[in-house]
Amino acid sequence: EWINFTNFFNQIIDRFEMTKEQHVTFLRKLPEEKLYVDIDPDKITQVLDNIISNALKYSPEGGLITFKAEVHEDKLQISVTDQGMGIPKGTENKIFERFYRVDKARTRKLGGTGLGLAIAKEMIGAHDGEIWAKSVEGKGTTILFTLPFTRDQEDDWDES
Ligand code: ATP
Ligand code: MG
Repeated sequence: EWINFTNFFNQIIDRFEMTKEQHVTFLRKLPEEKLYVDIDPDKITQVLDNIISNALKYSPEGGLITFKAEVHEDKLQISVTDQGMGIPKGTENKIFERFYRVDKARTRKLGGTGLGLAIAKEMIGAHDGEIWAKSVEGKGTTILFTLPFTRDQEDDWDES
């Protein structure tokens, strides 16, 4: 299904912004031009729901969460950045493994099963994208993923 990515992302962010209970500020840096992605919207919603829930779960009071989407080479690159506790150096890949949690004590308090990012990785892979994390312990975390996109979804159909 062809979807205008900025509209789609805005709707998901709006839903979190209306229901969040913490004092966390949302900042959006989204493209104004129409960029179309060919996605299963339910699956990519599930991916973003998990990434955003994690960002909220690990954000301090008064923190900022930045939502970005930008064209990077031939892909659309989407990122969610928080100012939370971050993840230890060297575990950036491990958080995408099934049942991996950074530390047991933290996890017991905050809940979850440790499956969210493993599912996200599978779903992004199925959409020909990649997903990874960048983090500085004590400063925050960015989760990034890519998706193929097109500017003129109609032209693709007109060709040939
Ligand atoms: P679930 O998503 O199944 O409810 P979960 O959130 O613990 O459980 P994942 O979303 O897969 O599982 O995340 C795996 C682990 O990665 C988390 O337990 C946490 O330790 C770490 N993590 C994920 N996102 C962040 C983040 N934004 N800041 C700090 N740590 C994170
Ligand atoms: Mg999660």
